[in-house]
Amino acid sequence: MKIPFLDLKVQYKQIEDEVLPMITKSMANGAFVGGPQVAEFEEEFAGFCETTYCIGVSSGTDALRFALMAVGVGPGDEVITVPNTFIATTEAVSQVGATPVFVDIYPDTYDIDVSKVEEKITSKTKAIIPVHMYGQPADMDQVLKIAKKNDIAVIEDACQAHGALYKDRKAGSLGTAGCFSFYPGKNLGAFGEGGAVVTNDEEIADKIRVIRDHGQAKKYYHDMEGYNGRLDAIQAGVLRIKLKRLSDWNNARRKNAACYNEFLSVLPAAKIPTEAGFAESVYHLYVVLVDDRDGLQKHLSEKGVATGLHYPLPLHLQKAYDHLGYKKGEFPVTEDVAERLLSLPMFPELTREQIEYVVTSINEFLT
Ligand SMILES: *Cc1c(COP(=O)(O)O)cnc(C)c1O
Repeated sequence: MKIPFLDLKVQYKQIEDEVLPMITKSMANGAFVGGPQVAEFEEEFAGFCETTYCIGVSSGTDALRFALMAVGVGPGDEVITVPNTFIATTEAVSQVGATPVFVDIYPDTYDIDVSKVEEKITSKTKAIIPVHMYGQPADMDQVLKIAKKNDIAVIEDACQAHGALYKDRKAGSLGTAGCFSFYPGKNLGAFGEGGAVVTNDEEIADKIRVIRDHGQAKKYYHDMEGYNGRLDAIQAGVLRIKLKRLSDWNNARRKNAACYNEFLSVLPAAKIPTEAGFAESVYHLYVVLVDDRDGLQKHLSEKGVATGLHYPLPLHLQKAYDHLGYKKGEFPVTEDVAERLLSLPMFPELTREQIEYVVTSINEFLT
């Protein structure tokens, strides 16, 4: 049996009948960048996240960068985040001129270890970016408490957590601003690049609208230099069609995760994901911890099961961050997890039979 890591084609088939007329209509209307379709998506996604504002941008990386700029992070500032995330989180920090400062993660949820944040706060700290890894929100009450006490902004990296819940609130809606990616493989994915920032702060929303559009609030009158960072109309159209189904798709992912958990719980050699009491994960990824991770990955590949590594080399050990001066051993949990974590196939349309086959193949290797 061949099992893909992610199957975007099967999802496309479900919505093809709605997508094709939308594209034809958009073409005929001549609205390609921004415009009413983008405004409608922004309103709907703000509604979904239960925030007042949503600003569509061209990627999750831009969402993070623009949010940092809008809260006033710039050269000389420090921003606290985790070393086990995708590099886009810290690229955004560096690209506004600030320096990423890392904090280790919890060994069970893989999210930021809030007990280690305060010791990293200095007079230069301007923001903290909790990353809701693999679809599970970080411990936001604690993050917000520390941020309030130290008067720093909280920019949620919710790029893997569309629709995830922290207590009864949506990921991305709890901090100063929340950032989303609509890269095709995300839980809500466009047919190309896309992203969004959500916030309840009108001033931040206004700033981001200007930043994403070359620094202009009025055409050709530039209060500042900005970016070409807008969302395309066709991508917004695709996202509107998919947003209606997102809760169902997230529920299907949760069901698949429960199915994996059920089959894998009899295999103590593979540690299944832990869901914190305050969290409802949307399982962007389903990850297991195993000692011989590379061996298992090879075995699964031979069995036709595609897997992924998220992420094999922590950011503080990447060549790109040599200049920050971190050493191996500084973030032991992140470093351990990077060597033992394996992402199994996860998408809404995965069947029970496919999950059973993946687990049987894991069992063969581990016993
Ligand atoms: C995907 C992702 C991003 C970046 O999003 P892009 O749309 O690819 O720029 C940022 N942070 C995390 C955690 C992500 O998974």
